[in-house]
Amino acid sequence: MAPRNTAEADLTGLRGDLAGDALAPADAGYDEARKVFNGMIDRHPAVIAQCESSTDVAHAVRFARAHNLEIAVRGGGHSVAGTSLSEGGLVVDLRRMNTVTVDPASRAARVGGGATMSDLDRATQPFALATTGGRVSTTGVGGFTLGGGSGWLERKFGLACDNLLGAELVTADGETVRASVDENPELFWALHGGGGNFGVATSLTLELHELPAMSVVLLLHPLEDGRRVVETFRDVMDSAPDETGGGCLYLTAPPEDFVPEHLVGSLVCATLITFAGPEDRARAMAAPLLALRHEAEVIAELPYADLQCMLDDPPGMRNYWSAEYLDSFPDEAVDAFCARASDIPMPSATQHVLFPMGGAVARDTNGYPLPWRSAPWAVHPFGVWESPSDDARATQWVRDVRADMRPWSGGTVYLNFIGNEGSDRVVEGVGAENYARLAAVKTQYDPANVFHLNHNIQPAAQV
Ligand code: FAD
Repeated sequence: MAPRNTAEADLTGLRGDLAGDALAPADAGYDEARKVFNGMIDRHPAVIAQCESSTDVAHAVRFARAHNLEIAVRGGGHSVAGTSLSEGGLVVDLRRMNTVTVDPASRAARVGGGATMSDLDRATQPFALATTGGRVSTTGVGGFTLGGGSGWLERKFGLACDNLLGAELVTADGETVRASVDENPELFWALHGGGGNFGVATSLTLELHELPAMSVVLLLHPLEDGRRVVETFRDVMDSAPDETGGGCLYLTAPPEDFVPEHLVGSLVCATLITFAGPEDRARAMAAPLLALRHEAEVIAELPYADLQCMLDDPPGMRNYWSAEYLDSFPDEAVDAFCARASDIPMPSATQHVLFPMGGAVARDTNGYPLPWRSAPWAVHPFGVWESPSDDARATQWVRDVRADMRPWSGGTVYLNFIGNEGSDRVVEGVGAENYARLAAVKTQYDPANVFHLNHNIQPAAQV
């Protein structure tokens, strides 16, 4: 689909149709509106349709198709590959559709398609209710959930998509469809990992759970103790109850109050235990880690919504990430993981992360297209740096981590944790059998592959 420029696209009609706005490159606010989280992405859409309702979304989709404009769908703008921006095309910008309505009686939240994790968590917190969310507050609920949705609460409550009760979508024809267990169940199945392939989700309904207390133990250990720290973290998590989440990571110590001055700016090994329960139980869980040498600690019981923004980083840095999902994490894998920490490109905000899986994540009974969920461990090299001159070295480091961990990889991957790594990786992300089933759903709802700026499932006829 060849993009056309704004001059060619008659915006007056669209502006008249929308309750929201339609920005062209010459308009005030356009440059701000085209920024996404990853500072490496610098694209210039012909139109940014700032939608306020599903009717607006339908108008925007129809307009783009009538003018042959490539469509990108934007929620939180966190896709590392920048799939929420199209060069010369039309962006369906959902950010104004961020209302969250909580029904404490049925323990459900209806979430606008452009809401962020923060919008969701701040709305559910007053009811002491929560659901699995991403690990930073600025991620979009839409892209996060439709791709799977991995977060601190996943071992207790499952992935975010496991908590999806229903969704309303605008399809490639500009029609509205609903999906749930009872309505369009095959589409509903596809929304559990198939991402934005099938339409624009204008609202999602998510199941909530009681969460009276959330606790955290965060420790910064000396770099040279990394091997022992990672091993101990692995052993703690191997026998941890489902309430426990967290991660073990190498990162640059940030300039925070709890970090001693001499540590700020240097590489450290950190352990984080999150616990869906009171602080004393979190402490007990983390006891073997607390017994290790550490130079900084945060131990607290805190509102879940506060935990969710504890790791927020500002947008605009350069990002490149990938992931490997491991069948096992033996001592040799620990060695490989730790060895690669020594050449993290510095200075940078890069994180070299080990996530424990298991618990409710591994207990899927619905056969959703997320084959990686049975892996007990995930390694997630999260390259974040500032200067374009470091692009080559930082992206190579991420690729090196993948190569190092490959011997233990089960060959599956969570697509939300990677950028554009080609169509074979998309198949690895959903599983070959599931891919064929997803392609059939795609053929039904988007036969022309209008929504292709994503981890693309091609319509069956195009495979
Ligand atoms: P966008 O860039 O706006 O959208 C990405 C794609 O999602 C779009 O191209 C579109 O195809 C689709 N999409 C978005 N909204 C909709 C919608 N309403 N309807 C249809 N399609 C839609 N992931 C995790 O699982 N756990 C984490 O802890 C986590 N942490 C992260 C931390 C950071 C700092 C960042 C940048 C990302 C993180 N992610 C995490 C990855 C994140 O889940 C994915 O990047 C996800 O796609 C982001 O969704 P978004 O709406 O913010 O992104």
